[in-house]
Amino acid sequence: MSSDKPKILVTGGAGYIGSHAVLALEAAGYPVVILDSLEYGHAELVQQHLQAELIQGKTTDRPLLDQIFQTHSIGAVMHFAAYIAVGESVEKPAEYYHNNVVGTLTLLEAMLAAGVQQFVFSSTCAIYGPPKTVPIPEDHPKNPISPYASSKLMVEEMLKDFSAAYGLNAVVFRYFNAAGADPEGRLGEDHQPETHLIPLVLQAALGRRENIAIFGTDYDTPDGTCIRDYIHVADLASAHVLGVEYLMKGGETTFINLGNGNGFSVREVIETARQVTGEAIVAVERDRRPGDPPRLIGSSEQAHHILGWQPQYPDLESIIAHAWQWHLYRHGRV
Ligand code: UDP
Repeated sequence: MSSDKPKILVTGGAGYIGSHAVLALEAAGYPVVILDSLEYGHAELVQQHLQAELIQGKTTDRPLLDQIFQTHSIGAVMHFAAYIAVGESVEKPAEYYHNNVVGTLTLLEAMLAAGVQQFVFSSTCAIYGPPKTVPIPEDHPKNPISPYASSKLMVEEMLKDFSAAYGLNAVVFRYFNAAGADPEGRLGEDHQPETHLIPLVLQAALGRRENIAIFGTDYDTPDGTCIRDYIHVADLASAHVLGVEYLMKGGETTFINLGNGNGFSVREVIETARQVTGEAIVAVERDRRPGDPPRLIGSSEQAHHILGWQPQYPDLESIIAHAWQWHLYRHGRV
């Protein structure tokens, strides 16, 4: 594909959020090269639905990175590749720090050596820890309570220093609860193992699991269950395109929440899924899951203000309907 737009290197582009970002970049006319270890990513989805060249490898592999920067004229990097399971990070912190921190440092060093100065980074609202104020603004105190969240905050700190010392500019996105799927049904969420609420609820709707467990019904919230800020993955993707364009226009390093500003409870998610799918979905009440704060909602004012971003699908119905369409397709029901 010939394009007058710069080529973007997307690490983790075969994964859930990364693949949707590639879809959005390609729709906006950017050529893309994907680097993905394929430990969790899906090569077949890249081949079926994306134009991008897929290179299998890890961001800890400096010779491979050098080779990619030598053979492709890369204008900017979007870095999604990371280990993301909070519970596993507590058991295997070395793997998380190695992959998420050393891998990112290696990538940044390779970028600097190649003269690439624009970086979009996937961070997380987990760096804030239990919130002191809701909605959470970007300057909220940082108190990560897992190695996963610490690994993301360490990279944020690195980016501040690299920005000051080397002139590398970064847009850091702190995601709230990514959910949903490509509205046209091409891509969606397929984690193994799955731990996230919406796909688990939809597995129950499909009969692939017997029920959905509600983790805690005695929280200080209107219906007693936890409230989260679910953001449609296509809205995350559109923010990434705006983020890279902000950097290309000379934007400086900035840290931006990506949430839709609305909170929905676990019970609301299950009820909406019943309406969308028409399935009964059995819910069972269980104890709280350790480490879950009652309410996590992001202030998305900075995303509006700095990038002009607005979520296109802030309602739970669209998020769950698109995820359902994807689950039906992925599991051969349509
Ligand atoms: N949750 C639940 N049952 C499940 C999985 C998740 O009740 O089987 C709850 C979880 O306690 C949290 C919310 O759903 O309050 C969202 O959890 P998820 O793991 O999707 O995202 P997190 O907020 O932990 O990043």
